[in-house]
Amino acid sequence: MTFEGVNDTRVYMYSAALIIAVSLMMHSFIQKRTDKRQNVTFLYMVGALIINSSTEIVCEFLHPHISDSAAAFNVYKVFQLLYFVVHVLLAPFFLLYEMSVTDLIKKLKNYTVVFVVSIVSATEILVLTNPITNFVYYYDGYDFTRNWGEGIIYIVAVVFLLLSLVNLFYYWRAINPIKKMSLLYFFGVVILGLLIQLLFPEVRCELFAEAIAFVGVMITIENDDIMKDYETGVYDRPALMTELKNNEAMNVRFGLISLRLKDVDTVFKTNGPENFNKLSVEAAEFLKTLIQRYYIYHFDRGHFVIIVNTEMNDQGRQIVRKLARKYESKYNLSELAKKIDERFNDEWIIDDTRYLLGIAQVKMSYPDEVTNVNDIIYLLNTDLPEGKEKSIYEGEDLKKMLRKTEVKKAITRGLEESEFEVYYQPIYHIDGEKLYGAEALLRLHDRQLGEIYPDEFIPAVEEMGLIDALDDYVLKNVCAFIKSGIPAGGAMKSISVNLSLLQFRNEDFVERLNGIVEVYKIPKTMVNFEITETVGSDDMDDIKDMVSRLKNFGFHFSMDDYGTGYSNISKSFSLDFDVVKIDKSILWGAEKSELGMTVLTNTIYMIKQLNKKIVVEGVETKEQMELLRKLDVDYLQGYYFSKPITKDEFIHDIIGIKEL
Ligand code: C2E
Ligand code: MG
Ligand code: MG
Repeated sequence: MTFEGVNDTRVYMYSAALIIAVSLMMHSFIQKRTDKRQNVTFLYMVGALIINSSTEIVCEFLHPHISDSAAAFNVYKVFQLLYFVVHVLLAPFFLLYEMSVTDLIKKLKNYTVVFVVSIVSATEILVLTNPITNFVYYYDGYDFTRNWGEGIIYIVAVVFLLLSLVNLFYYWRAINPIKKMSLLYFFGVVILGLLIQLLFPEVRCELFAEAIAFVGVMITIENDDIMKDYETGVYDRPALMTELKNNEAMNVRFGLISLRLKDVDTVFKTNGPENFNKLSVEAAEFLKTLIQRYYIYHFDRGHFVIIVNTEMNDQGRQIVRKLARKYESKYNLSELAKKIDERFNDEWIIDDTRYLLGIAQVKMSYPDEVTNVNDIIYLLNTDLPEGKEKSIYEGEDLKKMLRKTEVKKAITRGLEESEFEVYYQPIYHIDGEKLYGAEALLRLHDRQLGEIYPDEFIPAVEEMGLIDALDDYVLKNVCAFIKSGIPAGGAMKSISVNLSLLQFRNEDFVERLNGIVEVYKIPKTMVNFEITETVGSDDMDDIKDMVSRLKNFGFHFSMDDYGTGYSNISKSFSLDFDVVKIDKSILWGAEKSELGMTVLTNTIYMIKQLNKKIVVEGVETKEQMELLRKLDVDYLQGYYFSKPITKDEFIHDIIGIKEL
């Protein structure tokens, strides 16, 4: 098909670009990719391409007629002007797009904004005033002739492209690989198109090359469906990880809220997967009313994360953002948390059923409160701090939660650098004079955190799965101490070693303990194992079996912390203990109230009836000792006699050997 005087090949090139650009625009709208700043910038670029290719087509068709008709010539001039007006925006749009994709925009400095806006405005003024000034181009008769202004426009475009490339390489390591490659491809194709057109002016391939480059971007960067949670329509966990890492690499400030359903597993089980999903969708829908969907992540079952940017809130950076103001609304983290909390205090109605969902939020700001992304990931995965339940955890709570990571690091260090030390606390006969035994208690001396106590590190050690190794370490120390003969020389009957209930899950546990002790060839009756009273009833039979096997080897057993647990008394006492250690809280309670006294006396009475020996721990005063004497218990342990001390101190101060 040919038209008289029309340059077909050019028209084909422009039409191809136009068709591609229109399709891209349609796809974006069909897939509702129109809300994120990045999406919007993409639409600006595509829009500019549509206008440019259409104006070029119109001009090509008008061209044969401009010499015949003054009207045609005027329309031609208007379209050509329109072409230039839009064309100068393309390169700045590329830069803006690149910065949105890479998050560089969040780091924009005022002067950069002012610089970009001034240059773009200046070139626009140059173009818009061209009908009067003819600086950019003019018509020599009917011939379009370039002037120096066009050269300037070219240079400006090249500067913007270079700026984009420099940015890309400067932040190369911080940008995720897919985005990096796509942007590189994008600029590669655009620059190739420009070069070809520059060298062979007849091949009008610039717009076509841009259209192709946009297609690449559409497939890779714009299409983030794979990062979306299918049901809730918000981003998924990998997307969150990418965003966190990206923000860290780019040094972007942000605020984060982790919103978790309490007792998720129970809620899930009682309501079934289908209703649970409906609830998640409802919750996500509610969050979307507070904040744009692309700030929301579905992290886990019943766990959403919201990330808001706090860097953009500065005054004075508004010039460029006026365009995208709507997409940059400010968020106040505390207000957001409050609104969420209020909503969840209310019920949810799904299919005529009412639900009340208990949630807790953890609110943090990076890098002020939490200084690295690993800590954030840890906070997202860790349990809420113990103590009084709160609806919003922040500030100090974060520190408490993070302390555990620090402790875990200290534990690793401690194991590598043998900073764990076994301390001994003496246990006396009821007269308070004669030494009966000792309890081995662990200490961790950390060079960073200082002294760490077992109440803090034992649960962490258990979580890390290292409790076996650590308790073996204690047992070996105790065996070595017994082997030295010093305890027996000091008339000590036994040394107690605490065991963690977790260890009873190991089938080979009994043989392992026995194996360790046998190496030292010491009397097994001198090793007394303590396990706490809070025995889970599920595995009671297993524990019972293991205890009796250990007893058969000759070891002794104590039930530790009696009176703190909730376990079934008859079940607990079905274990074959030699000694029951009454917890310090029972002793201390006796001094506080009559009821407490009744509890202590009856506890002691009951244990005696069962023919077990009794240790009371936590004896801090003479009065307590005298009270216990009256109540006729067997052994005493507490600060009144001595705190846990090092082995050398124990030998020196307690056993009384002054020179070793
Ligand atoms: P536990 O076995 O009940 O140990 C007694 C705790 O009470 C010790 O705390 C001891 O220092 C403290 N205590 C003793 N007398 C008094 C007193 O008069 N006043 C006060 N206020 N406290 C007193 P510690 O050493 O901090 O140990 C805490 C817990 O950590 C232990 O409780 C034990 O369950 C666990 N633990 C300690 N070492 C080990 C170990 O090697 N392995 C295992 N699995 N657990 C251990
Ligand atoms: Mg103990
Ligand atoms: Mg105890």
